Amino acid sequence: MSQWILGIDLGTVNSCVAVVKDGRAVMLSDDSRTTIPSCLAFQRGQEIVGHAAKRHGVTDPQNTISAAKRLLGHSFDSPEVQDALERTSYPIRPSPLGSVLIEVDGRELTPIQVSASILQRLREVAELALEEPATKAVISVPAHFTDVQRKATKLAGEYAGLEVLRLINEPTAAAFAYGYRKATDFKLAVYDLGGGTFDITVMTAEGDCFRVDATDGDSYLGGEDFDNAILEWLIEEFKSEHGHDPSGDESARGRLIEAAEKAKIELSELEETQIELPFITQLPDQSRPNFSRVLTRQKLSALTQPLIQRTLELCGNCLEAAGIISEDLDEVLLVGGQSRMVAVRDAVREFFGKEPRRDINPDEVVAMGAALFGYSLSADDFKLEEQAAAAEAYALARQDTAIARKLLNEVEKLRADSIDDDALAERLETLLEETEADGTSGRMDDIELEPPPDDELSGAVDSLRDELMQLRGKAGAVMSGISEELSDELADEITRNEQAEAPKDSTIDRAAQRLNERLESAVEASESARTHLEKADQHGSARKVKLTDVASHALGIASVSDLFTVLIDKNVPIPVAKERIFTTNQDNQTEVAIRVFQGVAERASENQFLGEFVLEGIPPAARMEPKIEVTFRIDEDGILSVQARDTRSGLKQGIRVEDPLQLQQPAGGEAEKEPSSPPAD
Ligand code: ADP
Ligand code: MG
Repeated sequence: MSQWILGIDLGTVNSCVAVVKDGRAVMLSDDSRTTIPSCLAFQRGQEIVGHAAKRHGVTDPQNTISAAKRLLGHSFDSPEVQDALERTSYPIRPSPLGSVLIEVDGRELTPIQVSASILQRLREVAELALEEPATKAVISVPAHFTDVQRKATKLAGEYAGLEVLRLINEPTAAAFAYGYRKATDFKLAVYDLGGGTFDITVMTAEGDCFRVDATDGDSYLGGEDFDNAILEWLIEEFKSEHGHDPSGDESARGRLIEAAEKAKIELSELEETQIELPFITQLPDQSRPNFSRVLTRQKLSALTQPLIQRTLELCGNCLEAAGIISEDLDEVLLVGGQSRMVAVRDAVREFFGKEPRRDINPDEVVAMGAALFGYSLSADDFKLEEQAAAAEAYALARQDTAIARKLLNEVEKLRADSIDDDALAERLETLLEETEADGTSGRMDDIELEPPPDDELSGAVDSLRDELMQLRGKAGAVMSGISEELSDELADEITRNEQAEAPKDSTIDRAAQRLNERLESAVEASESARTHLEKADQHGSARKVKLTDVASHALGIASVSDLFTVLIDKNVPIPVAKERIFTTNQDNQTEVAIRVFQGVAERASENQFLGEFVLEGIPPAARMEPKIEVTFRIDEDGILSVQARDTRSGLKQGIRVEDPLQLQQPAGGEAEKEPSSPPAD
């Protein structure tokens, strides 16, 4: 099976890749490490990705791109990118269309291209580990990812040469990896604190159906903020010791951040740790002091309390949106590397009033769930493939068996009747010629090749195997007889006439050899048929799941006076389609502009703009008369398409914002063209 389906967790800080092998999810590792930094750098003009790039970043942060996921699918003016401008070490600038360009090593890269390079690296890691090509993938995305961010992720996968079968929400993947399968409603909260983002999700598992009840989160809250809290403390400590701010020195800053993260990770195991930074930076008096501090678990907890509190606040909002209280939850799952911190675990336990589960490695659980989901999507196809392979092997085994059976028959008859029967010998010779001419394909007229139906294949393979065993026994007996007789005959013949040939004997000899070959090949083919059938069974019993997600944002259009009209509410289960009737607000208005936004603000312009199109050619009519039906549809990947239709003329127009690079702010200024809600609405 070279049809591997990769489960990819494309994280802000780390990424991982898993597959399902023999029915079980396994992580694929790069040099024995399963988490691969989502970093890209250039070293002497060469692109490097992963561990090497992260290491490179310590000394050359301007040319090392990290956390590009935070920029993915955002316009340059968005608060996310403006916030990133202050935090990122590499230069970011706007493209002429208002999207984001990253400048490193004299090149310009988009966040999609950076993500594509990371995905490409993951694909290489997988192909190296599997020793086979792997082109299909399920990629996970944060639950709060917008439509544009989802499209950008899919596009990055395609740039990396992957066929993206599905996007899956990260918490859904985690819950899936835990494999909850209960007869009754089973409520879960998934607390995912990663390197750059925080997601909290409340979901219900019922049988094979996973439903996301509500999601909340912050795409700017994660392990890096914990590192920064330690960094700030270290800087303050350095300042009070040396009266000098080391943060202007890029390399010192890089080392401080690296030391902060290392200490933080150590404190998940230890009560305290020593931070040592020799010759950290140059002071105004030209000296280079060593800097060292002891960081305790307690101090770390105090430094990061506001961050932990913020996650709990979001947990509260999410429970509220799901309409439940923490007592209603059956289980809480910890996901994301930062959730390994003891104070985080304690806070989660206290908040939800139960011990959170973390028995599957929190860094790997999302990739594993994505792989399991990919496998469940394709298990039926795999089953059919294996069944077809079994049927083919069975047909080969049958041909060989039939030829062997015929050969054996003739040889037996020849022996029983008389070794001198010329007619029989001739028949055997013809038979041999036929089988040899056909090679292994054995297209002999009277061998019927129709395979049995799938559900009878297994029985047929078994009875063929029984027949082969019998034939083998018989052939063994006949052939050992032949070789004795042959040598006697040959001896006689040779005594009778030294020059005489023994044509019949050599025919029988040849027949015995063929018979043997045919039997061996039949046995081999029937064994292969059996193996394929077993694999088909294994795929057949794979778990099929139905994942139901919810819309992560409210979606709607701008109607007159910048009013935002919501068509799809946040947390509505997807896939979903909703329509609503709008009308014109001027006499003889022949076009309406449909501008699509997401968000909760009442004024459309305060929400995030997604795209726009114009429905033209509306037959002239009095204002408020035309009925324009606007339909919003979200597919199972969470990707939105919008259509507008004039119900009288049947005229249609729509968009599916395909290229997230085309991010532009709406043209604006044509308010009269915007549709309005009919008075009755
Ligand atoms: P993401 O999915 O957001 O890319 P991960 O789930 O891999 O990231 O989490 C990465 C974060 O987890 C980093 O900030 C890292 O420092 C932190 N982390 C990893 N291991 C530990 C640990 N043992 N204790 C505390 N934090 C950890
Ligand atoms: Mg993650």
